[in-house]
Amino acid sequence: MSRILIIEDEVSIAELEKDYLELSGFEVELEEDGKKGLERALTDNFDLLILDLMLPGMDGFEICRKFRETKNIPIIMISAKKEDIDKIRGLGLGADDYMTKPFSPSEMVARVKAHLARYERLIGSSFPENEIIEIRGLKIDKTARRVWINGEEKNFTTKEFDLLTFLAQNPNHVFTKEELFSKIWDMESIGDIATVTVHIKKIREKIEFNTAKPLYIETIWGVGYRFKM
Ligand code: CA
Repeated sequence: MSRILIIEDEVSIAELEKDYLELSGFEVELEEDGKKGLERALTDNFDLLILDLMLPGMDGFEICRKFRETKNIPIIMISAKKEDIDKIRGLGLGADDYMTKPFSPSEMVARVKAHLARYERLIGSSFPENEIIEIRGLKIDKTARRVWINGEEKNFTTKEFDLLTFLAQNPNHVFTKEELFSKIWDMESIGDIATVTVHIKKIREKIEFNTAKPLYIETIWGVGYRFKM
């Protein structure tokens, strides 16, 4: 049974969401406070998070950002204002879906099911058969070794291509620079982990709209990199 955490301070909305989800066979827990909600989300085992934006203690932006440092489960963000949804999207905090209040509870249940199914497919396979990887505007053809961003083809060196493809095939997994160096470069090859940093920079210049705020390859400070799904 999938477990869902709802962080929502409007009790009537939280209860309504809970009722609908429980009727669909989910186990649901509620938290009203932002800080407590984040702590619960990080320490307990949930399969999906429903996160309200405006919360006492800590807002949904901050919760989403902190939660994504270590956890990959789907997040559906809820806001009372359409403008806030646009802002969340723009920030690229790693939420998987957004809904504006008031919303239909049955639509919320449908989205929860879709995200859980997608996430299970994602962690259940490492795409062994898939020769084309398409993630948002990024398309990688593994057989032809070609890369497009928003329809525009970019030229990649062999190692840049190998590194990007390796990361994209293992989304949301944090790899250290050492791990990436040993995966992509033969151990006898010249170079060190600084080579990884240089290649990541070059890849970002080709695929990111704003290299200071990468949408694809994220730097996890003090650890390494991960490809955001
Ligand atoms: Ca609220």
